[in-house]
Amino acid sequence: MIHRAERDLVLEAARRTVALRLTHGTSGNVSARVADGMAITPSGLDYQSLIREDVVMMALDGTPEPGQTRVPSSEWRMHAAIYRARADVRAIVHGHSPAATAVACLGRDIPPFHYMIAVAGGDSIRCAPYAPFGTEALAALALGALFDRRACLLAHHGLLAVGATMDQALAVAAETEFLAELLLRLLPLGEPRVLSPAQLADVLERFRHYGQRGPG
Ligand SMILES: [Zn+2]
Repeated sequence: MIHRAERDLVLEAARRTVALRLTHGTSGNVSARVADGMAITPSGLDYQSLIREDVVMMALDGTPEPGQTRVPSSEWRMHAAIYRARADVRAIVHGHSPAATAVACLGRDIPPFHYMIAVAGGDSIRCAPYAPFGTEALAALALGALFDRRACLLAHHGLLAVGATMDQALAVAAETEFLAELLLRLLPLGEPRVLSPAQLADVLERFRHYGQRGPG
């Protein structure tokens, strides 16, 4: 089968999003860039029962490769728009994890109250304005919120994380969920104190030195 390795990568990552509690039921989707497009999870199938052939291969203009047995995730436009615009992105994870989705329902950015915010590439994780799922409008808003970042929230919807590798996209998604959980614990106590621009610049520099995941 063509793209066997990429399909397995998406399949394995989809199952890890369940184990990491980044998604539940049939919500969420995962994709990987391939030379001529992307491999993406199918629409409406439980990740636990997925087989390699269920992963959909398609061009970035939405044209499926011949012989596909499944319909791609309804969010394929969002994935395709990111791959078209961001040469640095080779994997994308989207989920409706509880804490990130709760913060997204508040319509709030995640501020830099913890140094691990730098995992997402800057001093915040933005929340994209609301647009209906599966639309080009949502794809455009997500792309804007992802500018210079590896993660964003989608208002009244969930989270989105990207990476140069699938491992990085999964790690950024998990860290975004962790930061959102912290924010939900902090907000009842008041607005959290944030790191200064100089402290954040220092952390971002250290992350560049230690690698994307930072020193831990
Ligand atoms: Zn979604």
